[in-house]
Amino acid sequence: MRVSGILNTALFALCAAAATVPTPVEVLRRQHNAGTVITKCAKPGVLALAFDDGPYQYTSKLVDTLNNAGAKATFFFTGTLYGCIYNQRAAVKKAYDSGHQIASHTWTHANLANLGTSQIQSEMQKVEQAFVNIFGKKPAYMRPPNLATSGNMLSVMRSMGYSVITDDIDTGDWNGQSPQQSQQKFQQAGAGGNGHIPLMHETYASTVDTLVPWLINWAKTNNLKLVTVAECLNDAGGMYQSGSFPWKWTELLLREAACPFLSASQPS
Ligand SMILES: [Zn+2]
Repeated sequence: MRVSGILNTALFALCAAAATVPTPVEVLRRQHNAGTVITKCAKPGVLALAFDDGPYQYTSKLVDTLNNAGAKATFFFTGTLYGCIYNQRAAVKKAYDSGHQIASHTWTHANLANLGTSQIQSEMQKVEQAFVNIFGKKPAYMRPPNLATSGNMLSVMRSMGYSVITDDIDTGDWNGQSPQQSQQKFQQAGAGGNGHIPLMHETYASTVDTLVPWLINWAKTNNLKLVTVAECLNDAGGMYQSGSFPWKWTELLLREAACPFLSASQPS
């Protein structure tokens, strides 16, 4: 009786503590990641493909390619860069439903280092609401457009609970580099050490059709698991902000207002 009484007391204390106090891992994650810039994975044996600038016309095909390879990846979506995200809901939902990580790349692909606090918050909140409306979650990870950070921007990201991801290999696809030139960068960097988080863009056919299949094969050859950015940081459970968020029907009804003048003008 005495032992079980002590045990019950201990269990009660444990449960009470669990209900109110974040676990040491949660504390560590919040203190270590939110508002700090992360360039690569926290463990070896993984590769975290991370695609910027979608959703776009190749998103659905890219998800199929990844799914067929048993791979997980991360999509840093914008709200308006290649058309209105509300008009590409199916592709966003498909990526989410397939278990890929959905993260933020701001609403308009703004350079956050040049913006004030309220503008930065607005850039993040509009994407958050779009994600809530499309799949019910707010992201906990972001990649700044042009990888541009500032002290104020990082302070806002910390207060909004965002881990800030950049890269440790720039494929250069955005800068006219061919898939073959990108491949050389991976070969030069090698498959050893903590996993890579490459900078790459789902908005180029050459990246989706050539570089990604090559990387899937490169990972297989080198025994690397293709995982989300959160998983490569040992934070698979922390892809999204905790809590539940209201679906705003007005945003859906007024999506043309949310993305003015974008339906007919997508960049090529
Ligand atoms: Zn971008």
